[in-house]
Amino acid sequence: MINKSIKELSRMLRSGQVSSLELAQEYLKRIDKLNPEINAFVTVDPELTLSQAKHADILISKGHQNPLTGIPIAQKDIFVAKGWKTTCGSKMLENFIGPYDAGVIEKFDNAGAVNLGKTNMDEFAMGSSNETSYFGKVKNPWDRDRVPGGSSGGSAAAVAARLCVAATGTDTGGSIRQPASLCGLSGLKPTYGTVSRYGMIAFASSLDQAGPMARSCEDMALMMNVMGGFDERDSTSLNRPVEDYSRDLNKPLQGLRIGLPKEYFGEGLDTGVDQVIQQSISEFRKLGAEFVDISLPNTKLSIPVYYVLAPAEASSNLSRFDGVRYGYRAPEYNDLIDMYCKTRAQGFGAEVKRRILIGTYVLSAGYYDAYYLKAQQIRRLIAQDFINAFEECDIILGPTAPSTAFKTGEKADDPVAMYLQDIYTIAVNLAGLPGMSIPAGFAGNLPVGLQIIGNYFDESRMLNVGHAYQQVTDWHSRMPEGI
Ligand code: GLN
Repeated sequence: MINKSIKELSRMLRSGQVSSLELAQEYLKRIDKLNPEINAFVTVDPELTLSQAKHADILISKGHQNPLTGIPIAQKDIFVAKGWKTTCGSKMLENFIGPYDAGVIEKFDNAGAVNLGKTNMDEFAMGSSNETSYFGKVKNPWDRDRVPGGSSGGSAAAVAARLCVAATGTDTGGSIRQPASLCGLSGLKPTYGTVSRYGMIAFASSLDQAGPMARSCEDMALMMNVMGGFDERDSTSLNRPVEDYSRDLNKPLQGLRIGLPKEYFGEGLDTGVDQVIQQSISEFRKLGAEFVDISLPNTKLSIPVYYVLAPAEASSNLSRFDGVRYGYRAPEYNDLIDMYCKTRAQGFGAEVKRRILIGTYVLSAGYYDAYYLKAQQIRRLIAQDFINAFEECDIILGPTAPSTAFKTGEKADDPVAMYLQDIYTIAVNLAGLPGMSIPAGFAGNLPVGLQIIGNYFDESRMLNVGHAYQQVTDWHSRMPEGI
Protein backbone atom coordinates (compact mmCIF):
# COMPACT_ATOMS: atom_id res chain seq x y z
CA MET A 1 0.00 0.00 0.00
CA ILE A 2 2.66 2.53 0.99
CA ASN A 3 4.38 2.47 -2.38
CA LYS A 4 1.31 3.18 -4.47
CA SER A 5 0.95 6.26 -6.64
CA ILE A 6 -1.83 8.81 -6.31
CA LYS A 7 -3.41 7.40 -9.46
CA GLU A 8 -3.37 3.82 -8.13
CA LEU A 9 -4.75 4.86 -4.74
CA SER A 10 -7.43 6.94 -6.39
CA ARG A 11 -8.53 3.91 -8.41
CA MET A 12 -8.62 1.77 -5.25
CA LEU A 13 -10.70 4.39 -3.47
CA ARG A 14 -13.17 4.52 -6.32
CA SER A 15 -13.58 0.75 -6.50
CA GLY A 16 -14.02 0.54 -2.72
CA GLN A 17 -10.90 -1.63 -2.22
CA VAL A 18 -9.86 0.80 0.47
CA SER A 19 -11.54 3.74 2.15
CA SER A 20 -10.02 7.14 2.77
CA LEU A 21 -10.49 6.55 6.49
CA GLU A 22 -8.46 3.32 6.33
CA LEU A 23 -5.74 5.05 4.34
CA ALA A 24 -5.52 7.92 6.82
CA GLN A 25 -5.43 5.50 9.76
CA GLU A 26 -2.65 3.49 8.14
CA TYR A 27 -0.53 6.60 7.59
CA LEU A 28 -1.23 7.97 11.09
CA LYS A 29 0.00 4.64 12.47
CA ARG A 30 3.18 4.95 10.44
CA ILE A 31 3.68 8.52 11.67
CA ASP A 32 3.21 7.33 15.25
CA LYS A 33 5.88 4.71 14.74
CA LEU A 34 8.49 6.58 12.71
CA ASN A 35 8.06 10.27 13.42
CA PRO A 36 9.62 10.25 16.90
CA GLU A 37 12.91 9.47 15.17
CA ILE A 38 12.61 11.18 11.78
CA ASN A 39 10.88 14.31 13.18
CA ALA A 40 9.28 15.09 9.83
CA PHE A 41 5.99 16.32 11.33
CA VAL A 42 5.66 19.19 13.77
CA THR A 43 1.92 18.75 14.23
CA VAL A 44 -0.38 15.78 13.77
CA ASP A 45 -4.01 16.08 14.72
CA PRO A 46 -5.75 12.73 14.18
CA GLU A 47 -9.15 14.17 14.94
CA LEU A 48 -8.92 16.79 12.19
CA THR A 49 -7.37 14.28 9.77
CA LEU A 50 -9.93 11.56 10.34
CA SER A 51 -12.86 13.92 10.00
CA GLN A 52 -11.48 15.03 6.62
CA ALA A 53 -11.07 11.38 5.63
CA LYS A 54 -14.68 10.59 6.55
CA HIS A 55 -15.82 13.56 4.52
CA ALA A 56 -13.76 12.32 1.56
CA ASP A 57 -15.42 8.90 1.82
CA ILE A 58 -18.82 10.57 1.60
CA LEU A 59 -17.72 12.52 -1.49
CA ILE A 60 -16.45 9.33 -3.12
CA SER A 61 -19.64 7.40 -2.29
CA LYS A 62 -21.63 10.17 -4.00
CA GLY A 63 -19.41 9.98 -7.06
CA HIS A 64 -17.81 13.41 -6.45
CA GLN A 65 -14.26 12.18 -6.82
CA ASN A 66 -11.33 13.93 -8.39
CA PRO A 67 -7.82 12.42 -8.43
CA LEU A 68 -6.86 13.87 -5.01
CA THR A 69 -10.08 13.03 -3.15
CA GLY A 70 -9.31 10.89 -0.12
CA ILE A 71 -5.53 10.97 -0.67
CA PRO A 72 -3.49 11.61 2.51
CA ILE A 73 -0.97 14.36 2.00
CA ALA A 74 1.18 16.52 4.30
CA GLN A 75 1.41 20.30 4.33
CA LYS A 76 4.59 22.25 4.99
CA ASP A 77 4.11 24.21 8.21
CA ILE A 78 4.48 27.48 6.33
CA PHE A 79 0.85 27.39 5.16
CA VAL A 80 -1.73 28.90 7.49
CA ALA A 81 -4.47 26.32 8.01
CA LYS A 82 -7.66 26.96 9.93
CA GLY A 83 -7.67 25.21 13.29
CA TRP A 84 -4.14 23.86 12.77
CA LYS A 85 -1.09 25.00 14.63
CA THR A 86 1.03 26.91 12.09
CA THR A 87 4.58 27.46 13.37
CA CYS A 88 6.84 28.08 10.34
CA GLY A 89 9.48 26.21 12.35
CA SER A 90 9.81 29.11 14.80
CA LYS A 91 9.38 29.73 18.49
CA MET A 92 7.80 33.00 17.36
CA LEU A 93 4.73 31.05 16.19
CA GLU A 94 4.97 28.10 18.56
CA ASN A 95 1.36 28.46 19.73
CA PHE A 96 -0.19 30.14 16.72
CA ILE A 97 -3.41 28.50 15.51
CA GLY A 98 -4.35 29.37 11.94
CA PRO A 99 -7.47 31.56 11.81
CA TYR A 100 -8.08 30.95 8.08
CA ASP A 101 -6.91 28.71 5.24
CA ALA A 102 -4.08 29.60 2.88
CA GLY A 103 -4.97 29.48 -0.84
CA VAL A 104 -3.08 26.18 -1.22
CA ILE A 105 -4.76 24.58 1.81
CA GLU A 106 -8.17 25.68 0.56
CA LYS A 107 -7.55 24.15 -2.86
CA PHE A 108 -6.54 20.79 -1.41
CA ASP A 109 -9.56 20.89 0.93
CA ASN A 110 -11.88 21.65 -1.96
CA ALA A 111 -10.41 18.72 -3.85
CA GLY A 112 -11.21 16.46 -0.88
CA ALA A 113 -7.55 15.67 -0.08
CA VAL A 114 -6.81 14.64 3.50
CA ASN A 115 -4.28 16.61 5.54
CA LEU A 116 -2.15 14.27 7.67
CA GLY A 117 -0.34 17.08 9.43
CA LYS A 118 2.11 19.95 9.23
CA THR A 119 5.70 19.21 8.34
CA ASN A 120 8.88 20.46 9.94
CA MET A 121 11.01 23.06 8.17
CA ASP A 122 13.93 25.39 8.65
CA GLU A 123 12.84 28.41 10.67
CA PHE A 124 10.92 30.75 8.34
CA ALA A 125 12.21 28.60 5.44
CA MET A 126 15.78 29.83 5.88
CA GLY A 127 18.17 26.97 5.42
CA SER A 128 19.32 24.05 3.28
CA SER A 129 19.47 21.29 5.89
CA ASN A 130 16.51 21.51 8.23
CA GLU A 131 18.76 22.09 11.18
CA THR A 132 17.40 25.54 12.07
CA SER A 133 13.87 24.51 13.11
CA TYR A 134 12.88 25.42 16.64
CA PHE A 135 11.25 21.96 16.74
CA GLY A 136 14.46 20.06 16.18
CA LYS A 137 16.40 18.65 13.26
CA VAL A 138 14.85 16.36 10.68
CA LYS A 139 16.63 13.12 9.79
CA ASN A 140 17.14 11.86 6.27
CA PRO A 141 15.37 8.48 5.98
CA TRP A 142 18.15 7.21 3.67
CA ASP A 143 20.78 7.76 6.35
CA ARG A 144 19.66 9.07 9.69
CA ASP A 145 23.01 10.68 10.44
CA ARG A 146 22.48 12.97 7.49
CA VAL A 147 20.32 15.99 6.73
CA PRO A 148 17.23 15.74 4.50
CA GLY A 149 18.01 19.12 2.91
CA GLY A 150 15.98 22.23 3.49
CA SER A 151 13.95 24.13 4.00
CA SER A 152 11.14 21.72 3.04
CA GLY A 153 13.05 18.87 4.69
CA GLY A 154 10.13 17.72 6.82
CA SER A 155 7.98 17.27 3.71
CA ALA A 156 10.81 15.49 1.91
CA ALA A 157 11.54 13.14 4.81
CA ALA A 158 7.81 12.43 5.21
CA VAL A 159 7.40 11.39 1.56
CA ALA A 160 10.68 9.43 1.53
CA ALA A 161 9.76 7.52 4.71
CA ARG A 162 6.29 6.89 3.27
CA LEU A 163 4.59 8.82 6.08
CA CYS A 164 2.33 10.41 3.46
CA VAL A 165 1.63 9.91 -0.23
CA ALA A 166 2.84 13.37 -1.23
CA ALA A 167 3.45 16.76 0.34
CA THR A 168 3.69 20.45 -0.35
CA GLY A 169 6.86 22.50 -0.19
CA THR A 170 7.96 26.05 -0.88
CA ASP A 171 11.02 27.16 -2.77
CA THR A 172 12.66 30.57 -2.40
CA GLY A 173 16.14 29.53 -3.47
CA GLY A 174 15.89 25.76 -3.79
CA SER A 175 13.84 24.53 -0.84
CA ILE A 176 11.69 22.14 -2.84
CA ARG A 177 14.32 20.88 -5.26
CA GLN A 178 17.28 20.50 -2.91
CA PRO A 179 15.49 18.36 -0.27
CA ALA A 180 13.82 16.39 -3.09
CA SER A 181 17.29 15.70 -4.43
CA LEU A 182 18.74 14.68 -1.06
CA CYS A 183 15.77 12.42 -0.23
CA GLY A 184 15.32 10.71 -3.63
CA LEU A 185 12.03 12.40 -4.59
CA SER A 186 10.47 14.47 -7.32
CA GLY A 187 9.87 18.13 -6.50
CA LEU A 188 8.68 21.02 -8.65
CA LYS A 189 8.99 24.76 -8.16
CA PRO A 190 6.52 26.30 -10.61
CA THR A 191 6.85 29.58 -12.51
CA TYR A 192 6.56 32.51 -10.09
CA GLY A 193 2.91 33.52 -9.81
CA THR A 194 1.44 30.13 -10.72
CA VAL A 195 0.55 28.97 -7.18
CA SER A 196 -1.14 31.28 -4.69
CA ARG A 197 1.02 32.80 -1.94
CA TYR A 198 -2.07 33.83 0.03
CA GLY A 199 -1.62 32.55 3.58
CA MET A 200 1.87 31.24 2.86
CA ILE A 201 4.07 32.88 5.49
CA ALA A 202 6.35 35.21 3.54
CA PHE A 203 10.13 34.89 3.53
CA ALA A 204 11.22 36.72 0.35
CA SER A 205 8.04 37.65 -1.48
CA SER A 206 9.53 38.12 -4.95
CA LEU A 207 11.07 34.63 -4.86
CA ASP A 208 8.76 32.40 -2.75
CA GLN A 209 6.74 29.86 -4.66
CA ALA A 210 4.90 26.73 -3.51
CA GLY A 211 4.94 23.41 -5.31
CA PRO A 212 4.46 19.66 -5.03
CA MET A 213 6.84 17.05 -3.59
CA ALA A 214 5.97 13.49 -4.53
CA ARG A 215 7.53 10.31 -5.78
CA SER A 216 6.80 10.70 -9.48
CA CYS A 217 6.15 13.38 -12.07
CA GLU A 218 2.76 11.83 -12.74
CA ASP A 219 1.78 12.43 -9.09
CA MET A 220 3.17 15.98 -9.24
CA ALA A 221 1.05 16.75 -12.31
CA LEU A 222 -2.07 15.69 -10.42
CA MET A 223 -1.06 17.88 -7.47
CA MET A 224 -0.36 20.85 -9.72
CA ASN A 225 -3.86 20.47 -11.18
CA VAL A 226 -5.13 21.18 -7.67
CA MET A 227 -2.53 23.74 -6.52
CA GLY A 228 -2.18 25.93 -9.59
CA GLY A 229 -4.41 28.77 -10.65
CA PHE A 230 -5.28 32.39 -10.08
CA ASP A 231 -6.03 33.74 -6.60
CA GLU A 232 -7.21 37.33 -6.46
CA ARG A 233 -6.11 37.56 -2.81
CA ASP A 234 -2.47 37.31 -3.91
CA SER A 235 -1.41 40.39 -5.89
CA THR A 236 1.42 38.42 -7.56
CA SER A 237 -0.84 35.59 -8.67
CA LEU A 238 -1.14 35.39 -12.45
CA ASN A 239 -4.53 35.32 -14.06
CA ARG A 240 -4.02 32.71 -16.78
CA PRO A 241 -6.29 30.00 -18.19
CA VAL A 242 -6.56 26.86 -16.04
CA GLU A 243 -4.09 24.20 -17.16
CA ASP A 244 -4.12 20.42 -17.19
CA TYR A 245 -0.58 19.61 -16.13
CA SER A 246 -1.02 15.93 -17.09
CA ARG A 247 -1.81 16.72 -20.71
CA ASP A 248 1.67 16.24 -22.14
CA LEU A 249 2.93 13.43 -19.88
CA ASN A 250 3.09 10.84 -22.61
CA LYS A 251 4.47 12.91 -25.47
CA PRO A 252 7.56 11.41 -27.14
CA LEU A 253 10.86 13.22 -26.51
CA GLN A 254 12.02 12.86 -30.13
CA GLY A 255 13.82 16.03 -31.20
CA LEU A 256 13.71 17.68 -27.76
CA ARG A 257 16.66 20.08 -27.43
CA ILE A 258 18.25 19.80 -24.00
CA GLY A 259 20.71 22.49 -22.96
CA LEU A 260 23.66 21.60 -20.73
CA PRO A 261 25.03 24.71 -19.01
CA LYS A 262 28.79 24.50 -18.71
CA GLU A 263 28.66 26.40 -15.40
CA TYR A 264 26.68 23.54 -13.81
CA PHE A 265 29.35 20.94 -14.49
CA GLY A 266 32.49 22.65 -13.28
CA GLU A 267 34.41 23.02 -10.07
CA GLY A 268 32.53 22.21 -6.87
CA LEU A 269 30.42 19.39 -8.33
CA ASP A 270 31.00 16.02 -6.60
CA THR A 271 32.28 13.39 -9.00
CA GLY A 272 29.69 10.86 -7.80
CA VAL A 273 26.89 13.29 -8.58
CA ASP A 274 28.44 14.15 -11.95
CA GLN A 275 28.59 10.47 -12.94
CA VAL A 276 24.92 9.98 -12.17
CA ILE A 277 23.97 13.06 -14.21
CA GLN A 278 26.09 11.81 -17.14
CA GLN A 279 24.22 8.48 -17.05
CA SER A 280 20.90 10.27 -17.13
CA ILE A 281 22.11 12.21 -20.18
CA SER A 282 22.67 8.93 -22.03
CA GLU A 283 19.20 7.80 -21.02
CA PHE A 284 17.68 10.95 -22.55
CA ARG A 285 19.74 10.43 -25.69
CA LYS A 286 18.19 6.96 -26.02
CA LEU A 287 14.77 8.60 -25.65
CA GLY A 288 15.49 10.71 -28.72
CA ALA A 289 16.60 14.00 -27.15
CA GLU A 290 19.38 16.11 -28.63
CA PHE A 291 21.95 17.99 -26.57
CA VAL A 292 23.22 21.54 -26.93
CA ASP A 293 26.05 23.13 -24.94
CA ILE A 294 24.88 26.39 -23.42
CA SER A 295 26.26 28.97 -21.04
CA LEU A 296 24.66 30.82 -18.12
CA PRO A 297 27.58 33.18 -17.53
CA ASN A 298 26.20 34.94 -14.46
CA THR A 299 25.56 31.74 -12.47
CA LYS A 300 28.34 32.45 -10.00
CA LEU A 301 26.71 35.76 -9.07
CA SER A 302 23.42 34.16 -8.12
CA ILE A 303 24.44 33.35 -4.54
CA PRO A 304 25.72 36.83 -3.64
CA VAL A 305 22.72 38.43 -5.34
CA TYR A 306 20.27 36.14 -3.56
CA TYR A 307 21.89 36.70 -0.18
CA VAL A 308 21.37 40.42 -0.58
CA LEU A 309 17.82 40.34 -1.96
CA ALA A 310 16.30 37.51 0.09
CA PRO A 311 17.45 38.93 3.46
CA ALA A 312 16.33 42.42 2.37
CA GLU A 313 12.81 41.16 1.71
CA ALA A 314 12.90 38.95 4.81
CA SER A 315 13.89 41.83 7.07
CA SER A 316 10.82 43.69 5.89
CA ASN A 317 8.45 40.69 6.00
CA LEU A 318 9.55 39.62 9.46
CA SER A 319 9.01 43.06 10.98
CA ARG A 320 5.39 42.01 11.58
CA PHE A 321 6.52 39.65 14.34
CA ASP A 322 6.68 42.28 17.02
CA GLY A 323 4.85 40.70 19.95
CA VAL A 324 1.83 42.92 19.38
CA ARG A 325 -0.33 41.35 16.72
CA TYR A 326 0.31 37.64 17.00
CA GLY A 327 2.87 35.10 18.03
CA TYR A 328 5.33 35.10 20.86
CA ARG A 329 5.66 38.00 23.32
CA ALA A 330 8.47 38.17 25.88
CA PRO A 331 7.02 37.52 29.33
CA GLU A 332 8.85 40.40 31.02
CA TYR A 333 9.74 43.88 29.74
CA ASN A 334 9.95 47.49 30.89
CA ASP A 335 8.35 49.46 28.08
CA LEU A 336 7.21 49.10 24.47
CA ILE A 337 10.69 49.26 22.90
CA ASP A 338 12.01 46.79 25.46
CA MET A 339 9.07 44.48 24.63
CA TYR A 340 9.90 44.58 20.89
CA CYS A 341 13.57 43.92 21.55
CA LYS A 342 13.10 41.06 23.99
CA THR A 343 10.33 39.46 21.94
CA ARG A 344 12.45 39.40 18.79
CA ALA A 345 15.64 38.44 20.61
CA GLN A 346 13.92 35.48 22.26
CA GLY A 347 11.50 34.52 19.47
CA PHE A 348 13.89 34.25 16.49
CA GLY A 349 16.75 31.79 16.06
CA ALA A 350 20.31 32.67 15.02
CA GLU A 351 19.93 32.21 11.23
CA VAL A 352 16.79 34.34 11.10
CA LYS A 353 18.51 37.09 13.08
CA ARG A 354 21.50 36.93 10.74
CA ARG A 355 19.19 37.47 7.75
CA ILE A 356 17.36 40.36 9.44
CA LEU A 357 20.68 42.05 10.17
CA ILE A 358 21.99 41.58 6.62
CA GLY A 359 18.68 42.70 5.14
CA THR A 360 18.45 45.82 7.24
CA TYR A 361 22.04 46.67 6.41
CA VAL A 362 21.69 46.36 2.63
CA LEU A 363 18.52 48.43 2.68
CA SER A 364 19.97 51.19 4.83
CA ALA A 365 20.32 54.62 3.22
CA GLY A 366 24.10 54.51 3.04
CA TYR A 367 24.36 51.05 1.42
CA TYR A 368 21.19 50.72 -0.65
CA ASP A 369 22.82 51.70 -3.95
CA ALA A 370 25.94 49.63 -3.38
CA TYR A 371 24.16 46.41 -2.42
CA TYR A 372 20.41 46.26 -2.94
CA LEU A 373 20.23 48.22 -6.18
CA LYS A 374 23.28 46.47 -7.63
CA ALA A 375 21.82 43.08 -6.75
CA GLN A 376 18.56 43.97 -8.50
CA GLN A 377 20.50 44.94 -11.63
CA ILE A 378 22.42 41.67 -11.65
CA ARG A 379 19.18 39.77 -11.05
CA ARG A 380 18.04 41.12 -14.42
CA LEU A 381 21.22 39.87 -16.09
CA ILE A 382 20.76 36.42 -14.56
CA ALA A 383 17.22 36.25 -15.97
CA GLN A 384 18.56 37.38 -19.36
CA ASP A 385 21.04 34.47 -19.37
CA PHE A 386 18.12 32.07 -19.32
CA ILE A 387 16.16 34.01 -21.94
CA ASN A 388 19.20 33.74 -24.23
CA ALA A 389 19.67 30.04 -23.44
CA PHE A 390 16.07 29.20 -24.29
CA GLU A 391 16.69 30.51 -27.82
CA GLU A 392 18.91 27.48 -28.31
CA CYS A 393 17.19 24.76 -26.29
CA ASP A 394 13.76 23.68 -24.99
CA ILE A 395 14.79 22.71 -21.49
CA ILE A 396 17.94 22.85 -19.38
CA LEU A 397 19.37 19.92 -17.50
CA GLY A 398 21.97 19.64 -14.76
CA PRO A 399 22.52 18.61 -11.15
CA THR A 400 20.16 19.92 -8.46
CA ALA A 401 22.75 20.12 -5.72
CA PRO A 402 26.55 19.87 -5.79
CA SER A 403 26.58 16.92 -3.38
CA THR A 404 24.43 14.22 -1.86
CA ALA A 405 23.04 14.55 1.68
CA PHE A 406 25.74 15.76 4.07
CA LYS A 407 26.21 14.82 7.71
CA THR A 408 24.11 16.57 10.34
CA GLY A 409 26.21 19.35 11.86
CA GLU A 410 28.76 19.27 9.02
CA LYS A 411 27.90 22.73 7.67
CA ALA A 412 25.82 24.08 10.56
CA ASP A 413 28.55 26.44 11.77
CA ASP A 414 29.58 27.65 8.35
CA PRO A 415 26.80 29.73 6.76
CA VAL A 416 28.70 30.27 3.51
CA ALA A 417 29.25 26.52 2.97
CA MET A 418 25.53 26.06 3.59
CA TYR A 419 24.61 28.85 1.15
CA LEU A 420 26.73 27.17 -1.56
CA GLN A 421 24.34 24.19 -1.50
CA ASP A 422 21.99 26.32 -3.59
CA ILE A 423 24.43 27.23 -6.34
CA TYR A 424 22.39 25.41 -9.04
CA THR A 425 18.91 26.23 -7.77
CA ILE A 426 18.89 29.92 -6.82
CA ALA A 427 19.19 31.46 -10.29
CA VAL A 428 15.88 29.83 -11.24
CA ASN A 429 14.10 31.72 -8.44
CA LEU A 430 15.84 34.97 -9.32
CA ALA A 431 14.57 34.58 -12.88
CA GLY A 432 11.08 33.42 -11.79
CA LEU A 433 11.42 30.25 -13.90
CA PRO A 434 10.10 26.77 -13.15
CA GLY A 435 12.60 24.18 -11.90
CA MET A 436 12.24 20.55 -10.98
CA SER A 437 14.34 17.83 -9.37
CA ILE A 438 13.86 14.12 -10.03
CA PRO A 439 15.76 11.13 -8.65
CA ALA A 440 18.45 9.97 -11.08
CA GLY A 441 20.44 7.38 -9.16
CA PHE A 442 22.73 6.97 -6.20
CA ALA A 443 26.24 8.00 -5.22
CA GLY A 444 27.61 6.10 -2.24
CA ASN A 445 24.11 4.78 -1.40
CA LEU A 446 22.65 8.29 -1.26
CA PRO A 447 20.11 9.67 -3.76
CA VAL A 448 21.17 12.11 -6.47
CA GLY A 449 18.76 14.61 -8.00
CA LEU A 450 18.66 15.69 -11.62
CA GLN A 451 17.46 19.23 -12.20
CA ILE A 452 15.24 20.13 -15.13
CA ILE A 453 14.70 23.84 -15.76
CA GLY A 454 11.98 24.98 -18.13
CA ASN A 455 10.98 28.20 -19.79
CA TYR A 456 8.21 30.31 -18.22
CA PHE A 457 4.95 28.32 -17.90
CA ASP A 458 6.54 25.21 -19.40
CA GLU A 459 5.73 22.98 -16.42
CA SER A 460 3.77 20.47 -18.47
CA ARG A 461 6.75 19.95 -20.78
CA MET A 462 9.07 19.52 -17.79
CA LEU A 463 6.69 16.95 -16.31
CA ASN A 464 6.62 15.23 -19.70
CA VAL A 465 10.42 15.04 -19.76
CA GLY A 466 10.54 13.73 -16.18
CA HIS A 467 7.77 11.24 -16.78
CA ALA A 468 9.45 9.86 -19.89
CA TYR A 469 12.60 9.30 -17.82
CA GLN A 470 10.59 7.69 -15.00
CA GLN A 471 9.06 5.27 -17.50
CA VAL A 472 12.49 3.84 -18.32
CA THR A 473 14.11 4.09 -14.85
CA ASP A 474 12.92 3.13 -11.38
CA TRP A 475 14.95 5.47 -9.14
CA HIS A 476 11.76 7.26 -8.12
CA SER A 477 10.20 4.13 -6.68
CA ARG A 478 13.19 3.08 -4.57
CA MET A 479 12.55 3.09 -0.83
CA PRO A 480 14.99 3.66 1.99
CA GLU A 481 15.73 0.60 4.12
CA GLY A 482 14.14 0.13 7.50
CA ILE A 483 11.00 2.15 6.98
N1 GLN B 1 18.68 27.69 1.24
C1 GLN B 1 18.12 28.93 0.83
C2 GLN B 1 18.02 29.88 1.99
O1 GLN B 1 18.39 29.52 3.07
C3 GLN B 1 16.78 28.71 0.18
C4 GLN B 1 15.67 28.52 1.13
C5 GLN B 1 14.36 28.38 0.48
O2 GLN B 1 14.25 28.09 -0.71
N2 GLN B 1 13.31 28.58 1.26
O3 GLN B 1 17.60 30.99 1.84
